[in-house]
Amino acid sequence: MDSEPNEARVVADVPKGLLVAGQWVEAGNGATFDVFDPSTGEVLCAVADATPEDGRRALDAAAGAQKEFAATAPRARADMLVAAFDLLHERIEDLALLMTLEMGKPLAEARGEIAYAAEFFRHFAEEAVRIEGGYQTAPAGGSRFLITKQPVGPALLITPWNFPMAMGTRKIGPAIAAGCTSIIKPAQQTPLSMLALGEVLREAGVPEGVVNILPTTRPGEITEPLLRSGVIRKLSFTGSTGVGRQLLAQSAEQVLRTSMELGGNAGFVVLEDADIDEAVAGAMAAKMRNTGEACTAANRIFVQRSVIDEFGDRLAKAMSELPVGRGVEEGVRVGPLIDEKAREKVQTLVDDAVAGGARVLTGGAAPDGPGYFYPPTVLTGVPASAKMASEEIFGPVAPLTPFDTEDEVVAAVNDTEYGLVNYVFTNDLRRGLRVAEALESGMVGLNQGVVSNPAAPFGGVKASGLGREGGRAGIEEYLETKYVGIAM
Ligand code: NAP
Repeated sequence: MDSEPNEARVVADVPKGLLVAGQWVEAGNGATFDVFDPSTGEVLCAVADATPEDGRRALDAAAGAQKEFAATAPRARADMLVAAFDLLHERIEDLALLMTLEMGKPLAEARGEIAYAAEFFRHFAEEAVRIEGGYQTAPAGGSRFLITKQPVGPALLITPWNFPMAMGTRKIGPAIAAGCTSIIKPAQQTPLSMLALGEVLREAGVPEGVVNILPTTRPGEITEPLLRSGVIRKLSFTGSTGVGRQLLAQSAEQVLRTSMELGGNAGFVVLEDADIDEAVAGAMAAKMRNTGEACTAANRIFVQRSVIDEFGDRLAKAMSELPVGRGVEEGVRVGPLIDEKAREKVQTLVDDAVAGGARVLTGGAAPDGPGYFYPPTVLTGVPASAKMASEEIFGPVAPLTPFDTEDEVVAAVNDTEYGLVNYVFTNDLRRGLRVAEALESGMVGLNQGVVSNPAAPFGGVKASGLGREGGRAGIEEYLETKYVGIAM
């Protein structure tokens, strides 16, 4: 079946402007930039390229809408999120195709991301009407404490290209639920999903100025003045640790509330008593979700020496059987990487590991032809000195390293500046919990290769970030606690 007409239609249908004060507008200077399909390298369309002046217009809109939005009934805000949840599901096929075109992930995964993204709206609709306070007697008697929650204020939300919609809804959902207005700066490589989401939010009844969207090729020039403006009160950022550090420094000036979801270097531990079939399935999920372009991707796979050969052979077989191709094609399980730079980085890391003594079980070399494809790859005997042991691979490469004892593997997993998520596979629950407690990360998958869930607190420790998204914690990031002392 020819999918071309559909592809052209979903791209044609998406708004190409900036969303400012509830209107789709051109950039102040009329500039645009191109969005590419990573499976072909061809241009999909052009979108407005926001200027710093556009940033100021969005700031005025967000500031202007804040007071009234904070005063809306929680149920009204929840209803907006529910309406947006319904629209995302109604349009899931078009939105998934759009995401696949700009980002490359296979259609089935794009559908999964739209459903996951929508779930943040449903979750935070449920939280909006459960924002709690308190009333208590002071310990010495006499006075009373009244404790209430108020929205933090206008928020700047910066998202990455790897989950172009879900990383947006897990910020926009709690911002709306809490009563905060926002300015969103989507990633340059994937603005279309966020623009489509902007239209969904407009149609869902989100008032003018509450959500503003600024695609741009000048991220720092737009966001730094916003962070230093004194009007923005909150930054939520998902992206690399390097950029996160710069943004944290800029946020210090106005002492902003920050939520920082940064890089990962997940360890994946297979103990010898694990169910090897389950461990292979878990590794496939932890490694191959999003073609390995995920902060949660298993970046270092440690397998107890007695089972590493069996595990490696089974993983290599499963990986080599995954169909690679354009994400829009039926049956494809592995799409292209986001760009040539990403592919070159993966190849450099693989070459470095092999030079250090690793053995290729499958894959290991980029194919010729259009698109930024890289084959599912398994390496075994990867030394601790390999660059991929300390850097995010962000590609479909599974590096296996043997270990002998539990203490040794815990030390090896923790030997990184990152601490987002780790995975442990064992059939001994006591051992699994012991290892999970000893691992320095915000999240642990125990016998499961995916931890992301809108109802759970997602986030890292160490250089992987600050704060949590999702769960009860997610809305707290957009609320201030106010205490009123009352004399009786
Ligand atoms: P990135 O380069 O840090 O970019 C993330 C966002 O920041 C993009 O919108 C980018 O805009 C913007 N940005 C870049 N430089 C900026 C600056 N100087 N000032 C303000 N904004 C700036 O990261 P990425 O390569 O897109 O994403 C991959 C990274 O995100 C990985 O490290 C991954 O682990 C991490 N990640 C973390 C989580 C988590 O929840 N912990 C989830 C997903 C991804 P441009 O697109 O214009 O460059």
